[in-house]
Amino acid sequence: MLNSLKLSLDQRKVDGLLRQRRLLDSPQAEHIVANNEHFLSFCSNDYLGLANHPDLIATMQSAAQASGVGSGASNLITGHHRYHDNLEKQLAKFVQMPAALLFSTGYMANIGVISALMGRNDAVFADKLNHACLNDGAFLSRATFHRFPHNDVVALEALLKTSTAKHKLIAADAVFSMDGDISPLPEYLSLCEKYDAYLYVDDAHGFGVLGEHGQGTLNHFKLKSPRIIMMATLGKAAGVAGAFVAGEQVVIEYLIQKANSYVYSTPAPPALSATLSASVNLIEQGDHLRSHLRTLIAYLKDNLNCKKWQLMPSDTAVQPLVVGGNHEALALSEYLQSCGVLVPAIRPPTVPVGTSRLRISLSAAHSIEDIQKLIKVLHQAETLL
Ligand SMILES: *Cc1c(COP(=O)(O)O)cnc(C)c1O
Repeated sequence: MLNSLKLSLDQRKVDGLLRQRRLLDSPQAEHIVANNEHFLSFCSNDYLGLANHPDLIATMQSAAQASGVGSGASNLITGHHRYHDNLEKQLAKFVQMPAALLFSTGYMANIGVISALMGRNDAVFADKLNHACLNDGAFLSRATFHRFPHNDVVALEALLKTSTAKHKLIAADAVFSMDGDISPLPEYLSLCEKYDAYLYVDDAHGFGVLGEHGQGTLNHFKLKSPRIIMMATLGKAAGVAGAFVAGEQVVIEYLIQKANSYVYSTPAPPALSATLSASVNLIEQGDHLRSHLRTLIAYLKDNLNCKKWQLMPSDTAVQPLVVGGNHEALALSEYLQSCGVLVPAIRPPTVPVGTSRLRISLSAAHSIEDIQKLIKVLHQAETLL
């Protein structure tokens, strides 16, 4: 086995697909120290610049003083602290859903929820470009797994129409993590009503960023229905760690009993929940941050003018620049790095073959000057590569 692992790693390298971790020696921010060098970074999902916010650091310190550093037992034994409970209630109210449940990560939320709600006689309908953990949740559930072409409402309807599954769940990223575009959620909800299906919305990249006061993509579309279950991560715009699922009371009560990644796992430390409560307040009061972020997005789209590489049609903080080949995307990323600018090259299997790209991720912590620098080095790269 060890020999075949080695061969597989060697092949990855030849294909330009080997991934490497950078060693970070600073807080996550727009200016970071990685591999002992200073960089302007467009790599994080910390869209509002909260990951290093002084008020949140102070909250985490005092909450650790009051509640310790560990949860010590699963939620169903003695691990469910009042800080966890307060945060769940606050999140449900913020996203205007009847109830919410915390998970330690978005990955655990997706595999836990889909595998709990769906079973052998059911079917999951998933966008082809969905995040990997939605697919893993569907595999774990043993439900029939249908994938439809990206954002293709017509293809989805054809699948729903012929499905004989007992329960049907449409699962989609609200904002696609590697494309930045938004799912046609209103159309999906109409299909749910027509075919008695339910809608699972993964709002990892919309929560905190889109909608009124950052409530997320459902609010952006003004969608509400007992057929909707939403998930959002708390390690991205919220700047800390974790995730929550929100929906009807009965769904949340069922998940508390049946979602294995909830039941059989130690919850994140209560101090994280106290910190997240403060973070949700900052999100709610953060209209100025979202407005600055929108200015930066518009500035990049208006001023980046490459002939070789095109930005994908995205209005969100995720602005992918499509390069094509794996080696070409890596070379561009490495050139930017040599200029002190970090933008990750995203390659298959994270994105389809032939669409390797730089995933430019903007944050309210960036300044216009930061975007100008990025544009300048990209324009330089085009004349050199
Ligand atoms: C990041 C991400 C997740 C996983 O969330 P974590 O909290 O990082 O585990 C799930 N879905 C999408 C779309 C994501 O981008």
